[in-house]
Formats: sequence, structure tokens, C-alpha cells
Amino acid sequence: MKSETIMVTGANGQIGTVLTRALREVWGDDKVIATDIRPSEGAEGRFSLLNVLDRKAVGELVKKENITVIYHLAAILSARGEQEPVGTWDINMGGFFNIMETARELHVGKVFFPSSIAIFGSNSPSHHTAQSALPDPETVYGISKVASEYWCQYYFQKYGLDVRSLRYPGIIGYQSLPGGGTTDYAIDIFHKAVQNMPYACFLKEDAALPMLYMDDAIRATLELMDAPADRLTVRTSYNLSGMSFTPAQLAAEIRRYKPDFSIRYQPDFRQKIAEAWPASIDDASARADWGWKEQFGLEAMTKDMLEKLTENYKQQESISPV
Ligand code: NAD
Repeated sequence: MKSETIMVTGANGQIGTVLTRALREVWGDDKVIATDIRPSEGAEGRFSLLNVLDRKAVGELVKKENITVIYHLAAILSARGEQEPVGTWDINMGGFFNIMETARELHVGKVFFPSSIAIFGSNSPSHHTAQSALPDPETVYGISKVASEYWCQYYFQKYGLDVRSLRYPGIIGYQSLPGGGTTDYAIDIFHKAVQNMPYACFLKEDAALPMLYMDDAIRATLELMDAPADRLTVRTSYNLSGMSFTPAQLAAEIRRYKPDFSIRYQPDFRQKIAEAWPASIDDASARADWGWKEQFGLEAMTKDMLEKLTENYKQQESISPV
């Protein structure tokens, strides 16, 4: 296997913390440089403070460390983005161009860019939304992702930069906390359930959304980046999904293990965002091109989340001072 030196932006976020760990397992601790605008709290391994809006600093780090692969995760997410639309555009697009231009100028071998189901909207088909379905983003976040997707394709076609991308659905994991997305409820709910507390859900009970377990999301990312370039037919971003469920279905599944768990519904502005998004995704291209297959559906994910989070909370109790 060719040796790579990897930089991860937004490495302290929900996905970045887990992806960085996984990359270190594959490539070795020394070979993966985590970066974020926030200092890393308690995380191990090589870390550099880096604002992706600082183009000079991005270039200096890539040069100094001889970076060969970049995972560019830093972004402002859907729900948070709506609080400050223009600022979100500046960060998501400004950061994107600084990474892509640096990669192009310094001949970085590969770039990973996460897109999102937020590129779809009310005028996109809502069930089994196809790879080629009409994008119709209704949040500034979704607009920035769809624009970036086409720029990914442009950098590939025009400059031969090997950019690869996935349209993540809502990512659910026990390893980290979510950072302000519309699917965050599907993580918050588990934290309440394991603490035997009731949960007030910010979406309606029938708001079906596509989701993916963190373990599957990380594996999909590594598999896409490892796939032979000539297998990839999609250079915008691949549809990707593992399961689809509503808050009511998730609550019912949790109740199989926690019969007293209670949920009430208090939809806020995020319900409108969720309503425009697909309920389920057709990821046939990912399956055909690089063999994508999820391992976790609703049942397996719920069981694993409850077990792992219960263990996490037990460990925290045992180390917190009395
Ligand atoms: P997150 O909000 O948890 O993490 C984002 C990280 O980016 C944070 O640690 C933040 O400090 C950092 N950041 C923000 N501005 C920065 C800047 N100017 N310079 C450097 N770092 C900066 O997000 P996440 O859930 O880990 O998502 C990672 C990526 O995956 C994002 O691009 C997101 O759009 C995408 N994605 C996530 C989901 C999901 O369900 N979590 C779904 C679809 C797509």
C-alpha cells in the first residue's frame, strides 16, 4: 500500500473525531494530521489549529507536512447555517476553495468532500431519490453543498484533481456529539433514553429521513477513497444511505429495550427543513461502482447505540469526582 500523509479539516466535529481515529488505524498516528478552528479537547495524536478561511495557513501546513490526501470536513451545518446564511456561505464556500486551490497548486493526490442530502428539496422526488434526481436546495447549507459538488466535478474534469464525495444522510453515532444539523434528534434521543429521561423531539413524529450509522459512514468514506479511480462514474457526489425511519419508529424501537421511554413532539424551524428533504435515498450507483453495502439498519443501529452509550455514561460516572 502506498504511504500517504493525510490532513483532516473540521477534525474535532461529530464525524471528524471518528474519521481521524479510523484513518490513524489504517495509516498510523504520525501520518494523520487533525486540524480544526477549535482546539482539540483530550484528543490524542497530531493536531494543528487551522482556520480553513486562512488560505496562507492551509498552504503552509500542506507544504510543511507534505500532505498527499485531504479530508475536508469543516463546514457549518444545515440548522446552524440558517441562523447566519451569508456567514455560512462564506465559511462553506471560502473554506472549500481554499482547500481545492491548495490541493490543485500543491498537487495533493486526493481530496474527500462530504456533501449532503440537503442538496435535495421540495421539488426533488422524496422517495428513493435517485442519484441523478433534480437538486433543489432550500437552505444556505444545501446551496453551498450543491455548488461544491459541481465544483468537485469541475476540478476533476478540468485539472485532473482526484476529488471524491459522498452525500451523507443523517449520521448517527455514540462516539461524538452532533454539531447543528437537522438530523441531530436521532442522536439526542439516545442520550435521553440511556439517562432514563423523556425526550422532546424538534421534528414531527412522521418526519421520515434517510440515516446512516457512524460505523457505516466511516467505512463508506474509506472504501470510496480506496476504490480504483476508473470505477468511479460519479464525480459530483455519490448518494449514500443505510436506513430510513421516522422519530415515532425510532422511539418504538428504543422502547423495545427501554419500555418506559417517553417522547413528545415540539417541532421547530428544523421541521420545515426536514420536510423538504428526501424520506429515502436510492444509492444504487455507490453499490454498483465501488460495492457499497450498509451493515446497520434501524434494529441493529438502535441496539448498538444503546449498548455503547450506556457503557460511555457508566465510564463517565466512574471517572467524575463525587
Ligand atoms: P460538525 O459541526 O460536528 O463539525 C464541523 C467542524 O468544523 C467543527 O469541529 C468546527 O469547529 C469546524 N469548523 C467550522 N468552521 C471552521 C473553520 N473556519 N476552519 C476550520 N474548522 C472549522 O460537523 P460534522 O457533523 O462532523 O460534519 C462534517 C462534514 O460532514 C460537514 O462538511 C458536513 O456538512 C458533512 N455532513 C454531515 C452530516 C451529519 O449528519 N453529521 C450529514 C451530511 C453531511
